[in-house]
Amino acid sequence: MRIGNLDGRLALFLDEGAVDVARASGGEFGPDPQEVFLRWDEFRAWAGGPEARETVSFAPEQLGAPVPRPGQVFAIGLNYRDHAAEAGVAVPDQPPVFTKFRGSITGPRGAIVLAGETVDWEVELVAVVGRRADAVAADDAWDHVAGLTVGQDLSERTVQLAGPMPQFSLGKSFPGFSPMGPWLVTIDELRAGGLDPDALDLGCAVNGESVQKGTTADLIFSVPELIARLSAVLPLEPGDVIFTGTPHGVGMARKPPRFLRAGDELISTVAGIGDLNHRFVAG
Ligand code: ZN
Repeated sequence: MRIGNLDGRLALFLDEGAVDVARASGGEFGPDPQEVFLRWDEFRAWAGGPEARETVSFAPEQLGAPVPRPGQVFAIGLNYRDHAAEAGVAVPDQPPVFTKFRGSITGPRGAIVLAGETVDWEVELVAVVGRRADAVAADDAWDHVAGLTVGQDLSERTVQLAGPMPQFSLGKSFPGFSPMGPWLVTIDELRAGGLDPDALDLGCAVNGESVQKGTTADLIFSVPELIARLSAVLPLEPGDVIFTGTPHGVGMARKPPRFLRAGDELISTVAGIGDLNHRFVAG
């Protein structure tokens, strides 16, 4: 199943087109894409039902963030060995955790304002919580995931690294710096398509030139492991999201460093899910 946000309304995406969930369910489920996670099991049962549903065609520009107002946004740093190496740090023995503030969330298409001279890309797999997870073991963790989507952990490196301690949360939370989309894909849908949710290819390209290319099989802390470790500290609630970290190839680590410029186009992809497509404009 693929679900998401079409013009601000919860939609189910079929091969033929989009289904407006509030209309198709006769109001049983509301139009808010965020609220659906509070009734995830009921929604899954309805969405998997046999009845034929009216679909409409749509343009990618109509898509918004599939999880527009998560209660909590977790983000993980240095979660791929080759990225830790390019950042010049040892492989962590526990995941560094920060947040991307909610005001930075945007959808999978459109323009993003460059907040400075050193804005960098980080393509990431994003996991969306579907069932409350309180001290969940890694073996049970996938059962608490509603699905996966594509994210960018855009980062203003000067702000991120200024001052006596790194400002990860602040430097990664300018407006538009947390795009997600194009929709959420459930784990069973990925498996039905022959994909392993623990081994998805991901990457991004600037103006058509590939800059990051990796696989989530190389995550130091896998999605289940992250859920186990985070939920050992505090409960994860339905509709929370986890940005799981980025593979190597960020602009900051290049020699010389390379950052996003006005007019650049950034396409970010996770296999089996889809892509984000953004262009950058001067602030
Ligand atoms: Zn990141």
